[in-house]
Amino acid sequence: MILCFTGHDWTFQLKAFLLSKKILEAYLTCHRNRFKLNCLKNSSCIFRFLREKLFLVICIGESHESACDLFLLISLEIIESEPTRLRVRLRGIDRSYANAIRRLAISEVPSMAIDDVVILENSSVMFDELVAHRLGLIPLKTNLAKYNLPEECDCKNSLGCPKCRVLLVLDAEAGDKVRIVNSGDLVSEDPETIAVTPNIPIVKLAPGQKIKLEAYARLGRGGEHAKWQPTSASVLKETGRTDEFELYIETVGSLSAQEVFEKAIERLQSALSDFAKQLAIAE
Ligand SMILES: [Zn+2]
Repeated sequence: MILCFTGHDWTFQLKAFLLSKKILEAYLTCHRNRFKLNCLKNSSCIFRFLREKLFLVICIGESHESACDLFLLISLEIIESEPTRLRVRLRGIDRSYANAIRRLAISEVPSMAIDDVVILENSSVMFDELVAHRLGLIPLKTNLAKYNLPEECDCKNSLGCPKCRVLLVLDAEAGDKVRIVNSGDLVSEDPETIAVTPNIPIVKLAPGQKIKLEAYARLGRGGEHAKWQPTSASVLKETGRTDEFELYIETVGSLSAQEVFEKAIERLQSALSDFAKQLAIAE
């Protein structure tokens, strides 16, 4: 059986995604012979997140249940949705899936952060290393469609290229008065990749002191270093009902909460597909 859905609502996209997961789960279970389920042998799902449009094809062989029956078992309800905050209620999925989304939102969704700093001049009282560390912790607005992770970029260059790194320059000097250098003083070569707020203090300069540096930002994952975590909170709560959970995601502003949620789900899907492929090879 082949089903095609097209829709414009991203909650619908998520439902469809969770459905595809349910089928994969049944697929894995069948292959492990743990239960004698209505057999979903030879089932497969092709799913793509396309902007404002969903395309999903589910192929089910030898099934006693239709894909539509499975679709109704799962539901998603948005309780709160703000640019940096998202609260959703998930029903009909296993706790392990809901918790995997929570964990992936923290450690696997990429965001931009400064990773390399060349200090050209620093007469402030702060050591170069400390300045570099502070720069790394400034959340930067991230456009995931525009940049590649350095390890996945075609350039294969340790210095990077315009598709995998962004240069930010800081050149500040205190005149007669004490000056606080803020994140807003960083000048980026990409006007889209700037600090989420211009008010984060970097260093305080006494009269006559100067700081000049080049900082290179790149995409990275929270699992590698906490500076790449897009979330400031990612929490899963039980509601008291079976297979019902409330997921709360709050971001630092580099990405929207909805983007983090979607990317975490995409990551879960690709990880499960890889697992299913490896299992098939092993068999
Ligand atoms: Zn590159």
